[in-house]
Amino acid sequence: MSIDNVNLFNLLENTHIGVVIHNESGAVEYANPAALAILNLNIEQLKEKSLDVDAWEFIDMQNRTVPYSELPISKVLNAGSAINEQILGTTHHETGQITWLSVNAYSEKYEVNGKTPSFVVVYFVDITKKVNNFSYKDIVQNAQDMILVTEAKNIDAPLSPKIFYANEALCRHTEYTLEELIGKTPRIFQGTLTDKEATQRIRQALLEHRPCTETLLNYTKTGKPFWVQMNIFPLTNDYGEVTHFAAVQRDVSETKFQTEQLDKRNAELKRIKDNLEQLVNNRTRELRSANLKLEKLAYVDALTHIPNRRAFLDSLKKFLHLACRNKQAILVGIADVDHFKSINDQFGHAFGDDVLVTVAQTLQKLFRQEDCIGRIGGEEFAFCMSLPTPRAANQLLERFRETICHLHTTQPILKGRNVTVSIGAVYTQKTENTEIKALLKAADDALYKAKNSGRNAVECTLDVDVLVTPKLVKECN
Ligand code: GH3
Ligand code: MG
Ligand code: MG
Repeated sequence: MSIDNVNLFNLLENTHIGVVIHNESGAVEYANPAALAILNLNIEQLKEKSLDVDAWEFIDMQNRTVPYSELPISKVLNAGSAINEQILGTTHHETGQITWLSVNAYSEKYEVNGKTPSFVVVYFVDITKKVNNFSYKDIVQNAQDMILVTEAKNIDAPLSPKIFYANEALCRHTEYTLEELIGKTPRIFQGTLTDKEATQRIRQALLEHRPCTETLLNYTKTGKPFWVQMNIFPLTNDYGEVTHFAAVQRDVSETKFQTEQLDKRNAELKRIKDNLEQLVNNRTRELRSANLKLEKLAYVDALTHIPNRRAFLDSLKKFLHLACRNKQAILVGIADVDHFKSINDQFGHAFGDDVLVTVAQTLQKLFRQEDCIGRIGGEEFAFCMSLPTPRAANQLLERFRETICHLHTTQPILKGRNVTVSIGAVYTQKTENTEIKALLKAADDALYKAKNSGRNAVECTLDVDVLVTPKLVKECN
């Protein structure tokens, strides 16, 4: 039997390869059953389609519609060269499913009745399965993230849930082989520092068949800790029953480390800030107290602790202003310790100091809070107050002189040694336009007179309309 005896038409009719023969104008002359089955058309539909170039809707692998000029039939008709394995897709007009074809085409010429019309033979195979049939498992298996599948039953049993599948990334990262993991529980990844509350939350989510996300400290087989962010979700079978759980995990140790470092740094900064605040507070307090001390030094006499000259002058200014506004008469006076130099010389400087302190204390006791007093010089004291009458002023001055004169009997510190003062004062109602300087000058002049009259004396100038004779006291009662 020779090859010529084989009926090639039978072969065309029975092969799974689709064969369509076009004439030179592109119209379909013949299509075998495989071609019609693959294209899901009957011969009339196919023939009809071939007459309309716009009726063909093939797409390429990038999902773009291929124009007629790019189709194998057109290319062979126009260029004459053969087309090999051009991949084209055609969409099922009912199901929308795409059938992928690997298409070949060539031109065939043979003589019929002295003419050589050409035909284009287009043949193709269905490669849909080849195109679509990638493995989802490959994706999971080769993913960079760690993927773990456990069974869903007996979540609470000691060695459950059992590991059903682990991808390569998980094995690599945890240092376990797949064989070591299958059938074990994911709890083998947990260790002493794994957050128990987080694992408890995961357990609860599994029991309720809920998805959950947690960041957990895990350990490798050799005990190396690493942080994983895991997303766990239930997997169901065709009946909708939860049969497994999948966990997609990512190592976030670096991020976690950076966050911790950042937290640490922030805590450190806060500590520095708190310390600084504390320091500033302490310094402010110290400064305030230093200022107070300075103020005291500036206004208080260090020996006698009564106001010094500056403080007295300040108070006197205010006092005068107030007296002027209230139309009150005032008494301004200076008391000077008599023969103080000889007291110093005779009994020593320290004793002299004691005398000054005692006189200052007497001044403090004798005058009221609202009066002004001060030590305005070595053994000179000044005072100022408002008094209703010149008589009252004289009485007060006299009482002051007398009290000092008796100090040696009341103050043991004076060791019985007599101390007297001479007092010069001015009593005036004319406080308007009166200058402090003038008042002190008047008091000083009066003091000079008192000294000249023999000391232990009071001399008061009356600068008032009321006529009162100044009283001069020489004797100590
Ligand atoms: P008079 O009766 O005229 O006022 O004579 P006096 O000796 O009191 O006056 P004088 O101005 O001659 O002497 C004042 C003395 O006061 C001289 C000075 O050494 C002394 N003195 C000044 N300040 C202080 C002080 O703080 N302590 C002591 N112990 N003596 C002082
Ligand atoms: Mg003096
Ligand atoms: Mg004196």
